[in-house]
This record gives sequence, C-alpha cells and structure tokens, in this order.
Amino acid sequence: MRYRASALGSDGVRVTMESALTARDRVGVQDFVLLENFTSEAAFIENLRRRFRENLIYTYIGPVLVSVNPYRDLQIYSRQHMERYRGVSFYEVPPHLFAVADTVYRALRTERRDQAVMISGESGAGKTEATKRLLQFYAETCPAPERGGAVRDRLLQSNPVLEAFGNAKTLRNDNSSRFGKYMDVQFDFKGAPVGGHILSYLLEKSRVVHQNHGERNFHVFYQLLEGGEEETLRRLGLERNPQSYLYLVKGQCAKVSSINDKSDWKVVRKALTVIDFTEDEVEDLLSIVASVLHLGNIHFAADEESNAQVTTENQLKYLTRLLSVEGSTLREALTHRKIIAKGEELLSPLNLEQAAYARDALAKAVYSRTFTWLVGKINRSLASKDAESPSWRSTTVLGLLDIYGFEVFQHNSFEQFCINYCNEKLQQLFIELTLKSEQEEYEAEGIAWEPVQYFNNKIICDLVEEKFKGIISILDEECLRPGEATDLTFLEKLEDTVKHHPHFLTHKLADQRTRKSLGRGEFRLLHYAGEVTYSVTGFLDKNNDLLFRNLKETMCSSKNPIMSQCFDRNELSDKKRPETVATQFKMSLLQLVEILQSKEPAYVRCIKPNDAKQPGRFDEVLIRHQVKYLGLMENLRVRRAGFAYRRKYEAFLQRYKSLCPETWPTWAGRPQDGVAVLVRHLGYKPEEYKMGRTKIFIRFPKTLFATEDALEV
Ligand code: ATP
Ligand code: MG
Repeated sequence: MRYRASALGSDGVRVTMESALTARDRVGVQDFVLLENFTSEAAFIENLRRRFRENLIYTYIGPVLVSVNPYRDLQIYSRQHMERYRGVSFYEVPPHLFAVADTVYRALRTERRDQAVMISGESGAGKTEATKRLLQFYAETCPAPERGGAVRDRLLQSNPVLEAFGNAKTLRNDNSSRFGKYMDVQFDFKGAPVGGHILSYLLEKSRVVHQNHGERNFHVFYQLLEGGEEETLRRLGLERNPQSYLYLVKGQCAKVSSINDKSDWKVVRKALTVIDFTEDEVEDLLSIVASVLHLGNIHFAADEESNAQVTTENQLKYLTRLLSVEGSTLREALTHRKIIAKGEELLSPLNLEQAAYARDALAKAVYSRTFTWLVGKINRSLASKDAESPSWRSTTVLGLLDIYGFEVFQHNSFEQFCINYCNEKLQQLFIELTLKSEQEEYEAEGIAWEPVQYFNNKIICDLVEEKFKGIISILDEECLRPGEATDLTFLEKLEDTVKHHPHFLTHKLADQRTRKSLGRGEFRLLHYAGEVTYSVTGFLDKNNDLLFRNLKETMCSSKNPIMSQCFDRNELSDKKRPETVATQFKMSLLQLVEILQSKEPAYVRCIKPNDAKQPGRFDEVLIRHQVKYLGLMENLRVRRAGFAYRRKYEAFLQRYKSLCPETWPTWAGRPQDGVAVLVRHLGYKPEEYKMGRTKIFIRFPKTLFATEDALEV
C-alpha cells in the first residue's frame, strides 16, 4: 500500500515521509530531528556521511537546511528541478535548496511578510553558490513585472560584477567572497521581482596590496589584463602579463586552472552594461583599476637625507592621467605628510618605509572606496522604478544573507576578530528567533511551553560591543592616543578592564596550565563555537585605517568622476574623527540584525566536506569542526527539546488511516478526532504525544518510526 500525503502548505513540518522513513538505513534520515540519538554528534555526522555518499547533499534540522558542498555538478538545479519544488509541501519531496526557496516565496506571497534567508558556513562551503541558485530560482520562476522587466537581468548581472571586484582566489576557495553581502529582492503585489538593494560588509582590502602564497588579488585585475582589448590596455598603460605588477605577484599564482579570466571578463563587461554603466563610466572605472596596478609599481629611493623620492616616473605619469590629478601634487603626497600644528600646515618628508606605507594605504583606499561606490551604483540600477506607483506600497522583501562564517586560523588578527564577532551576533539572533518561533507555534497550538536550556551568547557579544567596557570601546580609546598607544598598551588596557570575564583570557591572566599556549601579544576569546586566540599585532593600525591628509586632498581634487564621488571634500573640513573600522562594522551589524529581526527567517547552513576542493571526500575532522562552529547540535537540541515531530491532523490521518479499522477507508468526522482514535488504536502512550489545535506533536522519533514501519507490513 502506498500513500501520498496531501499538499498542505507550509506548516513547519519538513520531512519527506515516504523516502525518509523507508530507506533510512542506507541514506540516513532527511531530517536530523528524526535521529534517535539526537544529542550524539557521532550520529549526526554519520547521518551526513551516509547522505553525502549517496550524493544527497541536503538535510533538514526542522526548517533549517544543512547543505554539504559536493564539489561536482549534480545536475540538481535545472528548470525541471525548480518546477518540481514549486507549490509542493516541504516534506513531499526530498530536501532541497529550492524547497526552501519556494517555501519562503510562498510565505512572502500568502502571509505578505518579509523574509530573510541567512546562509552561513566557512569559506568554500557553498554560500555564494546557494545565493546564486536562489536568485536564479526567483528570476526564472516568478512572474515578470508589468514594467521594468530588466530588473531580473540586473539582479542576476550584479553578481559577476561584484564577484570580479570582491572575490579572489584563496587557499580555501578559488572564488572566495572577500566581503559580506546582504541583498534584498523586492516583489510587487503580484509576486514579481521589481527591485533590489545590496548592503556590503567589510571588504578585505589588505588583499589589494598583499596576498599570501597561493592566493590572488581580486579577480578584476587578472580579468582586465587577460581579457581587455589591446586598445583599452594601451590607453591604461598596462601590459598583459600579471607578473609585471607587484600587487599581483605576491601570491605567485596568477593562473588558476579552475578560472578563465578571459571569458569571465567578457561576462563582467556585458554585465556592466546591463547594470546601467555608460561607456564613459566603464572607462572611468577601468582607469581606477589600472591606477591601483600602477600605484603598486611606484618605487621610492632614499636621498641623502633618507627621504623617499619617487623613482618610477612612467608610473607616476600614468597615475596622474588615470586618476586625473596634478602630477606634482601626487608626487608630493606620496613622499610627504602634511601635519597641521597650531593652525599651520607643515610638510614632513617620509622615509622609505613610510612612503611605501602611504602608497599602499592609498591603493587600499582607492580600491575599497571604489567597491563601495560600485555597490551604490548597482543599487541605483536595482532601485525599483515603480517607487511612485501605488503598488510600491505593497511590495514585500526577500533578503539573502551571504556572509563569512566563523574563522579560526593558525594566526588570527583584527579581521577574524570582526568576522567572529559578526558570527556571534548572528548566532544570538538565530537562537532568539528559533526559540521564538518554537514558542509561538506551541502557543498557537495551545500546548504548554517547556523551557529549553540553551547557551545564551549575549555575554560574548557584550564583551565585544559594550559601551566603555567592551573590547571595541577599549580599542577605539587606544586609537585616540596616537604616538602613545600601541597594540600592546591596548592589550594591557584590555587585561585591566575585562580581567574577570569568563570568556576572556591573556597570558597574564591565564593559569599555569593554559599560559603555555598563549603568547604575550595575544588574547583569547571563548566564542560560542570554541576558543580563538587573537594576536593584537596590527589592531590599532587596522582599526584606525588612516589615510594621510594630503593623499586625501589629492584624491579630492581628482577629476575622475568616480574618484570625486569616493573622496568627498567635506571629509577634509570635517573636524570630527571618522568612525573607526570596528565601530563602523559594529554599527552596520546592529543595523543588519535589525533588518533581519523584522523578517521571517530561513536558514541554510553550508558545510565544506574537505580542504582539497574535491568531490567524494568526506573529511570527518573538518566536518565535525563545522558542525560545532555552525552550532548545529545546539540547533537540533532546541528543535528537539519538546517534540521531535509535528504534523497537521489531516496529513497524519491521510497517511496512517489504513492502520485502524475505524478510520479506514474514510473518517467522516473532524480529522483531529480521527487522529485521536487512530493513535489510541496504535497504542500511543500519553507521554509520547500531544494534541494541539491543528497538529499532533510526537515526542520521540521511534513512535513515528514504529507507525511508519507498520505501514510497510
Ligand atoms: P567564501 O566564504 O570563500 O566566499 P563560499 O561559501 O561562498 O565561500 P562558494 O564560492 O559558494 O563558497 O563555493 C565554493 C566552490 O564550491 C564553488 O566555486 C563551486 O565550485 C563549489 N560548490 C559550492 N556549492 C556547490 C553546489 N551546490 N554544487 C556544486 N558545486 C558547488
Ligand atoms: Mg562566497
């Protein structure tokens, strides 16, 4: 006898009954809540392994989708796949990203509530791929808007452009996003995409001037050199060979087998047109990209007073032209620092080291501000053209968050500190929202809420972000004492202020046993996902992110239209200190949390199966780490705290009615009464289940499995 559950709409039950339960030995369970031993990490990983072996990369934890990067094209994202997942219930079909996509979209349409899909995972786990598949799903399956149909193309085409400027080949991922991204897609009342908006977070700009061995600079440089037309390169004064540019040779890997820079450039070039770049704007943009390369090749030599002098006249000449600035001003700004003392301007010459520092700071500023400008430009192009029409008011928004996961390296610095802080915040939000939605469902169903014990990581968020006492505050304070403060005085101040915090440790504060593993310039945070030791070296500098005043002035005088938007004259007269990097990041995170809080959340948790970027390899140690960092066991615990499984009465009855003579073949009364008769007949004990308003709640998977097995007899 075979039954199909009837389509029910999204009711929170996300198990494919048919296949999940019958083949569970071979392919594992499709929803981790059905694991008998749900507190066992080993059982969790074994389930992932079984499924991965069968190329089943998706598994649920209730409504959360866990995805393992297959590193091969599984042919599961075709138009047919999209159709298969449209309008069906979560549990009628095997777990899939498109099931999430469709559920989210339908909730947006029917409940008219904004949605947010939060995609997390470590580098190379598949976040960006998932984001792209989701966008594609919406672009292909949603109705076209009445006006401004081009927005779909723009939504899709913004991607290659952002990736060219914001992604790079790293040791972990050949196409690693070096910035966090949150994208809103706006839908009109008919469910057609009509606009979009992107927020970007913390571009890793240090990559512009330095890359580790085996890594590259941002893709766009190589793309332009490989794919740019002769004529273009001539104008920009560029040679094709990346080896000619100091900013491109540090990682010693200009060519990457998985990347075709030439064809990628064609895609980017076309995409620029789609997102409304005029020919002039493209030229201005490329001038900037080229100017960064020329900047990297600016050399200095010391004169007899050890003052730096520019020796590369040709580079300077190109720079002057490409950035549209005065040659003499630029030359002076690269080799001098302007100080304002007692109202007087003084020019102090730079030595070799300082000049190189100033040059690199300029390159980073030019590039990162251009990136920010680019995001703004894309946003203007994505802005709904219907803003004035009445339908605008009824738009709903679907957010996609593709942001860096928890990072723990051999050596962790300011960047990891920011990224891990971000993950702490998102984890907090996740726990809060998950608990809230569980609680809401219990309430709606009239079932008593049983409090769940969980680790609230607010204590760690506070440690980082609290006013006056938090790590960021203390760091900012030290940044206000130029000349006196150093990374080490920052550490000392930290030790003084937060010494008794249970999640904070330094060499000085550690006991005999742990002291060995901590260096003197380090502090350790006990994150929700585990311990991370940060080296304070560079914290002040990176947080301050200074650009010498005269370099700023020079750039403000630029006649390149993009540059003049990036460097605003008001910045020069503004007496207020600009916000530090950490504080800016903190504020943007608070804003992000607010945005996410106002939406119905959905989660995709991505896992990277091995470090070799290869298909078929399931590296258990690596995966165990990620299960921990992603907080998946905690997630499962919260989800399982009360009831493993819940199902609408109609669906439950429909599926199991054959097991009871009183309900078979049809039950004429209320489905709820039918279910009551049915489970009594099946011998469910009172502690095994509860009857809610519309659903039956089953506490243990074994009860359900027994019932399911009875079907097969
Ligand atoms: P980062 O944090 O470095 O940006 P990421 O999580 O965004 O990493 P992706 O760039 O999405 O990682 O994925 C890395 C690579 O893994 C992709 O370029 C692709 O080759 C492969 N990959 C990821 N997801 C899938 C998938 N669902 N199917 C096939 N291949 C995939
Ligand atoms: Mg990415």
